[in-house]
Amino acid sequence: MKQKIHREFALVALATIFLTTILITAVFYSCFQREIMEELGTCTRMLRSIGVSEALEEPGGAYDSLKLQGLRVSLISSNGDVLYDNGVSVGGLDNHKDRPEIAEARERGSGQAVRRSDTLDRNAFYYAVCLPDGMILRTARESSSMYGIFVNALPAVLAAAAAVLLFCFYLSVHSARILIRPVEHLAEHLDAWDEFPVYQEMLPFVQKIRRQHEDLMRTVRLRQEFTANVSHELKTPLTAISGYAELIEHHMAPGEEIQRFGAEIHRSASRLLRMIDDIIRLSELDVMEEEAFVLEKVPLYQLAKISVDMLQIHAKRHQVELYVYGSPCSVRGDKEMMEEVLYNLCDNGIRYNREGGRVTVTVEPAGDKVCLRVEDTGIGIPKEHQERVFERFYRVDKSRSKATGGTGLGLAIVKHIAALHHGELILESAEGEGTRITLWLDRFEEETVLAENGRERR
Ligand code: ATP
Ligand code: MG
Repeated sequence: MKQKIHREFALVALATIFLTTILITAVFYSCFQREIMEELGTCTRMLRSIGVSEALEEPGGAYDSLKLQGLRVSLISSNGDVLYDNGVSVGGLDNHKDRPEIAEARERGSGQAVRRSDTLDRNAFYYAVCLPDGMILRTARESSSMYGIFVNALPAVLAAAAAVLLFCFYLSVHSARILIRPVEHLAEHLDAWDEFPVYQEMLPFVQKIRRQHEDLMRTVRLRQEFTANVSHELKTPLTAISGYAELIEHHMAPGEEIQRFGAEIHRSASRLLRMIDDIIRLSELDVMEEEAFVLEKVPLYQLAKISVDMLQIHAKRHQVELYVYGSPCSVRGDKEMMEEVLYNLCDNGIRYNREGGRVTVTVEPAGDKVCLRVEDTGIGIPKEHQERVFERFYRVDKSRSKATGGTGLGLAIVKHIAALHHGELILESAEGEGTRITLWLDRFEEETVLAENGRERR
């Protein structure tokens, strides 16, 4: 960026110097030319008033001396022959009738012309007047051409260019520093960006960077929290296992207790294994990109029936009734993930229920979407916890959840899977009444087309 600013400053400076020089030279030259012509005109008219006869009569007289002052005087007859010239010998000169200044003088009384001299940097200026007897008196002077003036001015122009360039360089360094300072400041203090002035034009960019920075910080914080939570959650069952094992090791468990301790160790170990499974699954889902799994046709209604069948024993143990409603339909998704969603939602419905309660799973199509709903008549989730139950390790009633072996990861997994499927997850719950979780998924396209055709035919 700095280099670009320097380059543009230098370019503007050079272009300005170049154009100004050309313009000034042109203006100066036109004034200069007018002045020379006026001077020649005055000289010629003066000579005319003095009279021209002496030029012809006494060669080497007054006109000749004018040559020393750079003024060339010629006398031309009415038919164009040069009768006298104080600069060259008349013999070698051709007829001057067609010279522009002569022709003009013959026509209008006076005429002028500028011609390129033998050298590029000089011009010859001519002024002619018609005398009463038809002869033409012409004066001429050589002077710098526009090119000559330009060449003469070149050293001064170059010196000025160098000075201006130097000044521009200083200016561009200074401006670049002023322009870039807020950006550099921002890079160093991204957290305190609102304490420093930022350009209006940069605001969207700054806000975007800041949002990304905040997202990054949040992710880092969540990771740290997750690690802390994992360690904490693993510690409880491990402490139990270690404690019971130690008691057995030191023969401190009475005979009838050994079995109970063994069962406790088994329960804690199972809990640990389940938790580790869930953690591994979550981190798998975390790194999973949408492209990493192929979305296929998943017959969700059938899958719900199978899952419910498998969970019936679990439901019976909790004295909860479990049903499936709806009609056969398929979604675009991953079968294994759909099974996980069904399992986690039904498991929650059963676990956080009351004796004699119900859990109903409904799978039904709605246009190009499929609605999967799991409702229960359980304890419900208090309003203030509803937003947070999808967070990792979050449990409303820690003691109850722990007693039922919950790790607080089930709904986090469901949320992740829903996001990977671009599904919409809705939680509705009333404390003491029950909970309803709805997941809207994309229906398998071919089935949507078939369903629409069928409706048309009907
Ligand atoms: P697991 O990882 O074994 O599923 P969990 O059931 O405790 O453990 P989640 O399924 O994520 O974890 O649920 C988080 C919390 O939300 C639960 O601990 C519970 O307090 C509450 N919760 C979830 N589903 C329901 C429900 N249907 N009724 C009442 N509370 C629920
Ligand atoms: Mg659960």
